Amino acid sequence: MQIIKSVTEMQNISQKLNGKIGFVPTMGFLHEGHLSLVKEAHKKCDFVIVSIFVNPSQFLPNEDLDSYPRNFEQDVKLLSDIDFIFFPQNEDIYPNDYKTWITVEKISAEFCGKSRPTHFKGVATIVCKLLNIVNADFLFLGEKDFQQLVVLKQMTKDLNFKTEVIGCPIVREKSGLALSSRNKYLSEIERKNALSLFEALQLAKINFKNGIVDSQKNISQMQRLIEEKGGVVDYIEIIDSQNLEKISKLKERCRVLIAVFIDKTRLIDNIEI
Ligand code: AMP
Repeated sequence: MQIIKSVTEMQNISQKLNGKIGFVPTMGFLHEGHLSLVKEAHKKCDFVIVSIFVNPSQFLPNEDLDSYPRNFEQDVKLLSDIDFIFFPQNEDIYPNDYKTWITVEKISAEFCGKSRPTHFKGVATIVCKLLNIVNADFLFLGEKDFQQLVVLKQMTKDLNFKTEVIGCPIVREKSGLALSSRNKYLSEIERKNALSLFEALQLAKINFKNGIVDSQKNISQMQRLIEEKGGVVDYIEIIDSQNLEKISKLKERCRVLIAVFIDKTRLIDNIEI
């Protein structure tokens, strides 16, 4: 495994690789969720590249860019079986004269885009740049960030990338809590309260089985469950998985998306019905 810090060097290397390149973009502080993407990449590809870059442009000014958890040494240990870690510096990615931004319209404005208005512009831009740098044949993304997955599928299609986007299932703790680097912010009590996200998602699944399909009814019940455990709901939405459109009744293979504040920590999760 080689650690590459320079954009030019990474680009030169990736253009000469002879075989399928699998790419996993991350912000580091890796956990089993990230590693499940790496595992999928190994199955499908000859070379695996993981980027570690806490992308400033996807954070809003009041968000946790500075405090975002980082542990590069530990990440390197966890990635010993890949080919390249791309660990660029901010100035190399966004030099002073940087001017180009990617906006995926409409679907970026909903859900997380409402409470984080410039977030997906930052995400789409960095992933677009990284795909050009690492020359990826396959891009591995977690369904944990379901809206991000749909936004990036749209971007690669619209901009004619050769890259195929592969969505990978959410990895959870035994308790049901979805793994996330931001779980580090949670105190012991908050961690218990955060289980309400998964419980609420399960409730929708059980309701569907029992024929309770009205979206609004489900949303209200989920909201009550979360609030009883001290969470503050940012949004709960029931959507068509393909186009992210809100639907009035739960149906087979639709998604329930939620974002909840557990004290100051904003967590997202989702489930397929
Ligand atoms: P991040 O480092 O949070 O930007 O995440 C990098 C990638 O890992 C994204 O594609 C995420 O969707 C994915 N990911 C994060 N957490 C999980 C999880 N619990 N299960 C599966 N994929 C995940």
